Amino acid sequence: MTAVDNARTLLAGPAVGVWSAPGRANLIGEHTDYNEGFVFPFAIAQRTAAAVALRHDDVIRVRSTFSPDAVEVSLGELDARITAGGLDWAGYPLGVAWALLREAPNATPRGVDIALASDVPVGAGLSSSAAIEGAVASALNDVWNAGLDKVALARVGRIAENDAVGAPTGIMDQMASMLGVADAATFLDCRTLETRAVPLGFADAGLSILVTDTLVEHAHSTGGYRERREACERGAAAFGVASLRDLSVDDLPRAEQILDDVTFRRVRHVITENQRVLDTVAALDADGPAAIGGLLVASHASMRDDFEISVPELDLAVETTLASGALGARMTGGGFGGAAIALIPTGLVPAATEAVLAAFAASGFRAPNVFTVVPSEGARRDA
Ligand code: ADP
Ligand code: MG
Repeated sequence: MTAVDNARTLLAGPAVGVWSAPGRANLIGEHTDYNEGFVFPFAIAQRTAAAVALRHDDVIRVRSTFSPDAVEVSLGELDARITAGGLDWAGYPLGVAWALLREAPNATPRGVDIALASDVPVGAGLSSSAAIEGAVASALNDVWNAGLDKVALARVGRIAENDAVGAPTGIMDQMASMLGVADAATFLDCRTLETRAVPLGFADAGLSILVTDTLVEHAHSTGGYRERREACERGAAAFGVASLRDLSVDDLPRAEQILDDVTFRRVRHVITENQRVLDTVAALDADGPAAIGGLLVASHASMRDDFEISVPELDLAVETTLASGALGARMTGGGFGGAAIALIPTGLVPAATEAVLAAFAASGFRAPNVFTVVPSEGARRDA
């Protein structure tokens, strides 16, 4: 059963439509989005679906296969309920409804039942949050005649996540989920929101992306993520610039002089990561996917040593896949757990999977989920 079928089954009554949006894997460009820099994610085939039925009152009722409880909020009390918080998972779909009404004042809201189902692993660094946001935003955009385009719907998802859920994330995940193209990654300039779908050519080159979901849980709303953002803000302030996007590798010597060691290393990660994203796009264009492995490896080292957001499980996944013949590998997502990706010849996937499972067992780590992801289409209406 696909997520679309499962959402339909969960919905009580006939759907007026079913919409879905995918999770994403970030090929390269980590913690650059909120620094107005460059990212290069791709949508994956795993999706979250939202089946919608119309109601005859003004209640939004959300259900998910994720939770036994339905949550009901009337349109009139939506604002107060979002402000009060404590909505748990329902903060995502209700936050999207709330943000959509803010961004599309001419929308015609009405009561709806929304049933959600997903095959995106939650908390794995594959952005199940952007998937649920993208599915609900796409659904309500149509059902409420909001008339927003995909970029505006990505912004709606980000507002929901930042202001309704309270997770201070950038816009990368939502843009990747909304704009994905099969066998391509989305180059995104987070300052201008300009995008370009860059063909990856993985299939033609006989390459796959192997994900190791370490099952180590990350929590974006807390601690480490916020601390990294603050360090980036400190670095930009020390240079008197709006964001680290305004700095380049030429500024690194001065950064080392004027910043404390920790802030300097945080800044160095962001500056060099922006350059690696640009280099990755250029390498793909010029030489194809086999040319980007070294950039992935350098990205991981930067996150491990300078940004300090890796964990031993992620490092082990990277090291083991590289030793198994991957051309490149890195942790992906916000860090402190979640997943690593490896760019690997498709024929080596079974052996690499075994090697990762064996290495985790030997280290006494919980057995990870190891699976491939395929660059896929973004948000869409399915029915
Ligand atoms: P990630 O985006 O990496 O998977 P997040 O912590 O950002 O992790 O988002 C995960 C949260 O999103 C879940 O804890 C849950 O609250 C919500 N969520 C994701 N998918 C669903 C779903 N299908 N149904 C209900 N809530 C979901
Ligand atoms: Mg998320």
